[in-house]
Amino acid sequence: MNGPGRCPDCSEAVLWTRTQPGATTAGGKQMPVSRRPDPAGNTAVRRDGTTAWISRRVTDAQPLMGYERLHMPHQATCRAHQHQLPLELPAGVARLDDRRRNRPPGR
Ligand SMILES: [Zn+2]
Repeated sequence: MNGPGRCPDCSEAVLWTRTQPGATTAGGKQMPVSRRPDPAGNTAVRRDGTTAWISRRVTDAQPLMGYERLHMPHQATCRAHQHQLPLELPAGVARLDDRRRNRPPGR
């Protein structure tokens, strides 16, 4: 599955992407992200030509590029998987959230 769809677990509208190989991941997995771009997300999404949606982690070494948009990994918000958060979240997502929560409003 690739492109707009629904989460099979919570039926929320998501965007199915194929993961790009990263520093710690082999890539090629199907990963649902938020249907719309989300500046709080940590996943860069781009269109591969006119067909596949590709996603990758944004890191300090590989920041967001102009042709990419930030999305939130769906497993971070999936209502059906909240109890699995510590196991399912890619490393760094929870810490990013904590940092935002601790940041004063308006920054
Ligand atoms: Zn879901």
